[in-house]
Amino acid sequence: MDFNALLDQSDEKYAKYLLSQDHLFKKIPDDQRSELIHQAIECGKNAARNFSATDLWEYCRQEAIEIDYFMEELKAENFRFVLAEFRLPNRIRINQSLLDEADEFLKEQEFLKDQRVDEILLAHELYHYLENQQKLFTIQKQMTYQIGPFKKQARLHSLSEIAATSFVQELLELRFSPILLNVVLLFPVAPDYSRELAKQLLVID
Ligand SMILES: [Zn+2]
Repeated sequence: MDFNALLDQSDEKYAKYLLSQDHLFKKIPDDQRSELIHQAIECGKNAARNFSATDLWEYCRQEAIEIDYFMEELKAENFRFVLAEFRLPNRIRINQSLLDEADEFLKEQEFLKDQRVDEILLAHELYHYLENQQKLFTIQKQMTYQIGPFKKQARLHSLSEIAATSFVQELLELRFSPILLNVVLLFPVAPDYSRELAKQLLVID
């Protein structure tokens, strides 16, 4: 599979894709979408600029953030793999099985040369730690909407994903969107799903 087309997409485009995956997407008024995307991107970039540690593992040790490299049986039919996740208050889980399985394939990807994939995953989850610790925009922003007679309030989790993405990109000075890891990490295990995701990422307008 050729990932070059995916390398050329703008960050806004990927942010749009992430927003469109939010389960509350349809509740977001049209005219607020681009502003929310912009605010989330800025929020992630600012968090990276304010982050002074250079060794992410050392930072986790200092902050007593637990990193759990978990193993699981990889089957293509369970394509909704967790690449990594953050659990409150201070636990980061990284899917070591996926990293192992994709290792050879990742080494063949020119755009990942000189880049530690586990560091990209760790940095993403670190953003979720920071947004909670520092009560950043992506945690505070609540959306109010109506279901029948009821007024509801909820967070837009996609904003956190957008910000985490721009945090990683800024912090690690990546020339590609870390979203591409979803495609390349899954390709060796679930190629059909990986191709489908790549297709979706290319058609965002
Ligand atoms: Zn995330």
